[in-house]
Amino acid sequence: MAEQTMQLMVVSDLDGTLLDHDDYSFEEVLPVLDRMDGAGIPMIVNTSKTRAEWLAMRGDFGNLDPYIVENGSALYDGEEVTVFGTPRARILETLKPLRGAFKFKGYSDASVPEIMAWTGLGRQSAERSADRHYSEPLVWGDTPEKEEEFCQLIAERGLMTLKGGRFLHVLGKTDKGKPLEHLRNGKAAIIALGDRENDLAMLKAADIGVVIATKDDFFLEADDVLRSTETGPCGWAEMVTQILDQLQIPQSQTNNG
Ligand SMILES: [Mg+2]
Repeated sequence: MAEQTMQLMVVSDLDGTLLDHDDYSFEEVLPVLDRMDGAGIPMIVNTSKTRAEWLAMRGDFGNLDPYIVENGSALYDGEEVTVFGTPRARILETLKPLRGAFKFKGYSDASVPEIMAWTGLGRQSAERSADRHYSEPLVWGDTPEKEEEFCQLIAERGLMTLKGGRFLHVLGKTDKGKPLEHLRNGKAAIIALGDRENDLAMLKAADIGVVIATKDDFFLEADDVLRSTETGPCGWAEMVTQILDQLQIPQSQTNNG
C-alpha cells in the first residue's frame, strides 16, 4: 500500500514569532531548524519586512528557502518571483492626488536619517527597510476622522491600508494568507506560526495554525489554532517541536561532540 507522503512546510512570521520582540534573539529555534533541515522540511519566512531586510538576516538562520515579503505582496523562490500585491510605483501614483487633502509623510518623501528617526533603526537597516517594492508606510499627520476618510478612498482605488505600530501602510489587496495556496500547490501540508492580526489570514490558510504568545499578553482571537505557552522564539521552538514529535519526524543527527 503505497502511501503518498505529503511534503511538509513551515511558514513563519518573523517579529515576535521567530525573533524575540525586544532583542531579536532566536537561538532557541536553531536546533529545531536543524531537525527540519534533516527531514527536508523548508522554513518559509512570511514577513511584513522587505526582501532586502530578510536577505540580510537569513544567513544567521542558514536559510535558503523561499520567502514572502511585505505582508503577502510577493513570494520569492530562487530567481522566480510571484506577485500578489501591487507595485510600489502604482501605489505612489495613487497617493499623489490625495496629498493636497490629507497630511501625511511617506517613506518616499523621507531621507534615510528621517527613516532612522522614525524607526530607531541604524543606517543600513533603515536603507533595507526603505527598499520597498510593494508598499508605502506613511506617518499620519492628520486627524483620525481624516484617516478614516483616507483609508476609504484608498480602498475605492483598489488598494488597502494596514495599521501597524508606527505606520499606516498602503499596499495592494493582499495578505499573508494569499501566497500559501500557491506554495501548497495541492501537495503540501502547511504549519503556520504568527502572533498578530496581520498573521490571521496565514493561520487560516494553513493546515495547522499556531499562535505564539506575546510578551504584552495580547490575545489573538483565532479559531482552530494551537497556542504556545512560551513567547517568541521559545514558543516557536516549543510548538514546532511538539508538532514534529507528533508526526514522528526524527531528531536532528547533529551532535555536539
Ligand atoms: Mg509578528
